[in-house]
Amino acid sequence: MRKDFSESLLELFSLVDNLIASEQLNSQQQDNLQNIKSLGENLGKYFDHAEREISSLKQRIKQLYQSNQYIDSRNENEVDTLLALVFARMRQSITIDELLETVVLEIHQLLHNDHVIAYQLSQQSLEESNLFIGYESVSDPARSLLEQRLPTIYTDPEWLERYQTSISQIVNDIDAPNVDPKLRESLSPLGVKSVIAVAIPSGKKLWGLLVLHQYDVVREWQSWEVELLEKLGTQLTISIHQLQLLVKSDSIRVERDQIIARLHYSQLHDSLTGLPNRDSFMSLLDLAFTKLQTNSNRNFAVLFIDCDRFQSINDNFGISIGDQLLQEISKRLNIYRKINVIIARVDSDEFAILVENFDSQESVINLANQILESIKQPFLINENQIFTSVSIGIVISDLEYIYANEILRDANIAMHHSRRLGRGKYALFSTDMNQGAKVRWQLENDLRYALERQEFHLVYQPIVSLHQHQLTGFETLLRWVHPLQGLISPQEFLAIVEETGDIIQIGYWVLETACNQLRQWQQDFPNIPQLTLGINVSTLQVVQSDFVERIQEIITEKQILPNLIKLEITESILMENIEVSSQKLEQLREIGVQVHIDDFGTGFSSFSYLKNLPIDVLKIDRSFTNKVATDIKSQRIIQSILRLANSLGMGIIVEGVETSEELEYFESLGGSSIEVQGYFISHPLDTDKATQWIQTTI
Ligand code: C2E
Ligand code: CA
Ligand code: CA
Repeated sequence: MRKDFSESLLELFSLVDNLIASEQLNSQQQDNLQNIKSLGENLGKYFDHAEREISSLKQRIKQLYQSNQYIDSRNENEVDTLLALVFARMRQSITIDELLETVVLEIHQLLHNDHVIAYQLSQQSLEESNLFIGYESVSDPARSLLEQRLPTIYTDPEWLERYQTSISQIVNDIDAPNVDPKLRESLSPLGVKSVIAVAIPSGKKLWGLLVLHQYDVVREWQSWEVELLEKLGTQLTISIHQLQLLVKSDSIRVERDQIIARLHYSQLHDSLTGLPNRDSFMSLLDLAFTKLQTNSNRNFAVLFIDCDRFQSINDNFGISIGDQLLQEISKRLNIYRKINVIIARVDSDEFAILVENFDSQESVINLANQILESIKQPFLINENQIFTSVSIGIVISDLEYIYANEILRDANIAMHHSRRLGRGKYALFSTDMNQGAKVRWQLENDLRYALERQEFHLVYQPIVSLHQHQLTGFETLLRWVHPLQGLISPQEFLAIVEETGDIIQIGYWVLETACNQLRQWQQDFPNIPQLTLGINVSTLQVVQSDFVERIQEIITEKQILPNLIKLEITESILMENIEVSSQKLEQLREIGVQVHIDDFGTGFSSFSYLKNLPIDVLKIDRSFTNKVATDIKSQRIIQSILRLANSLGMGIIVEGVETSEELEYFESLGGSSIEVQGYFISHPLDTDKATQWIQTTI
C-alpha cells in the first residue's frame, strides 16, 4: 500500500511540475499548483508518520499481549497450585484414555498454545512406532493431527535418544540457526514455529510423549511452563502405571469373582446332575419354614423321592450306568421345576422337591403321580433298556414342626411307608406312621457323621482250630457307639450305610484299622504263629471297580502279608451278581488275599458251580450250628458241606458255636482243616482283651 501511495504521489508531483512549466498559466494558477505540490508533500509526511505510529502501536500491542497472556515469571507456589489442580483432574480419570484426554485439555487451557498432543509410543519397538495420534487439544481445527501419524522427527531414534539425558526438548524457533535441520524439515510444512516435547517415561523406556506446538509466530517458552510440563510428564507416568495396575487387578477381580461364583455354584449344586444339593435344599426348606412361621398361609409341601432297587442297577450295570441313570432321572424330574417348585438331589439316589404356595393337596398328589408315571417309562442308556421306579413320600407343612429338617425326615418316613406297600407308589405322611421309621431316619442322619466323629471301633472274635483249640486268628467286627444311644449293633446300622453308600468308606476304614492292629500284634508277639484277620465286606464294596486295587493298596501300605487277610463275602453277594463276583474273586486270589464265604448254606448256591470259584474257606452259618445237636436235616447239610469242602480243598469255619454239645458234634466229625468260632469259645473282644487272649496262647 505504501508503494502504491508513494508512486501515486510522485506521479502527482510530476504532473504538477509539467503544469507549472506551461507558459499559458498565469501566476495565480502557478501558485495554486505549488500549493498542491506542498500539500502532497505534507500528505506523504503524514503517511510516513501514520505508518510509524501503526508499527509502534503494533509493537506496543504485542508487548501488552505478551505481558498479559504469558506471565513470564510465575512463582513456584503458583505453578504448584496449577499442578495440583491438573493432578486433581487427572485423578478423576478411570481409564488411560480419559487421563490423556484430560491432560491435553488442561495443558491447552493453561498455556494457551496452539496444539497439545499426547502420544503413546509403540511398546513393541520404538523404531517401528507407527501408532496414530489419539489425544490432542487444538485451537484451530484445521490443524488437527488426530488419527494421523506423529511428525517423524519425534520418533526419530536420535531424537528419542535425547530423552535419556533430558526429560524435555525445547525449541523456541525452529528456524533458528542452531536447530536440527531434521526438525525444520519435519515441522515447517505444518507451519510449526515453536515446540516443546516432554517425555512420559516408563522405567528406563519411554511410554510416550507430550508435544506442544505453536504455529505461525515464534513463541518463547517460559521456564515455569517447561517446569509444569515436566512435572506433568512425571505424574502421567505414575497415573498411567496406577491405571494399568487397576486394569490388571480388575481382571484378577473378575477372574476371582468367577471362581467364587463357580465355587459357590459347586457348593450348592450336585456335580453329577447339576441340581441343587442337600445343603441348598435344606436352606431353601429352612427359608420356606421361616416364611410359614411368620405367615401361616405360606404352606408348602415336600416330596422325598427314592429310586427303587437302585443298588441292584449299580451292581448289574456298573456305577457308570448307574450315574447316567441318575442324570436321566434328574432330567425327567427337572421338567416339573417351576418358580415355586424346587428340585434337589439330596443323596446318592434320593431327590427332594419343595413345592411352595401350592393350590391344593390334590395338586401335590397329582405332581407325585406324574413323576411316578414319568420314571416308569424305560430309560435307554448305552443301549441298555432300564426299567425302574421311584417311591415318593409327601409331607404337607405344619406349624407343629419345630425344625425344618423334621419335615424332610417325615417325607422320608412316608417314602419308606409307601415302599413297604409296593414300589413305584407315593404315600402322604401321617403322624401314625410308625415310630420306628423316625428312629431309623435319625440313625441315618447320625451315621452321616459317625466316621468323622470317630464313633466306630472294632472288636475281635477269636477263631480257633477244632482239635487243639489253638488260636488261628480273629474275625473283626464293627461297633458303633452312638453319642446318645450307646452301642448300636451292626445289624441295625449296616443296612442303612449300605443304602446310603457310606459302607464303602467305612469298609476301607475297617480294613485299615484291622491292619494297623495286626501289625501291632505282630510287633508285640513276634514268636507266635501267624495270626489271620477275617474282614467282612459288603456287596457295595465288592462291586466298586477299584475294590481289589484299594485292598491291595491298603495291605501293602500297612505292610501286611496278603494271605493273613481273609475277606468274608456272604454267599448272597456272590449269587446276586455271579459274573462280577467271580471276576473279583480271581483278582483277589491274584493279589494273594484269602476269600471266605460267609453265612454259607443260607443262600441257594449250587455246590457244582462253587467248584469253579477260587474260594479258600466256607463259613458255616450259625443257623445250622445251633441245630446240629437236635436237627437231623441240619446235620446232613453240614456233613455234605464238609465233604464238598474236603473234595475242593477248601477249609471250614463253624460259626456260632455256643455250647459244648455243638462243639463236640463237630469234633466227632473230625477233619483237619476245621476251625470254630462262637460264644462258647469267646465273645468278640475289645483290643485289650484280644491282646490278653493272644498272651495266654503263648
Ligand atoms: P457275621 O459276619 O456273620 O458275624 C458274626 C456275627 O455273629 C457277629 O455279630 C458276632 O458277634 C455273632 N456271633 C459270634 N458268635 C456267636 C454265637 O456263638 N452266637 C450268636 N448268636 N452270635 C454269634 P455282629 O458283630 O453283630 O455282626 C453282625 C453282622 O454284621 C456280621 O455277621 C457281619 O455280616 C456284619 N458285620 C460286622 N462287622 C462288619 C464289618 O466290619 N463290615 C461289614 N461289611 N459287615 C460287618
Ligand atoms: Ca463274617
Ligand atoms: Ca456269618
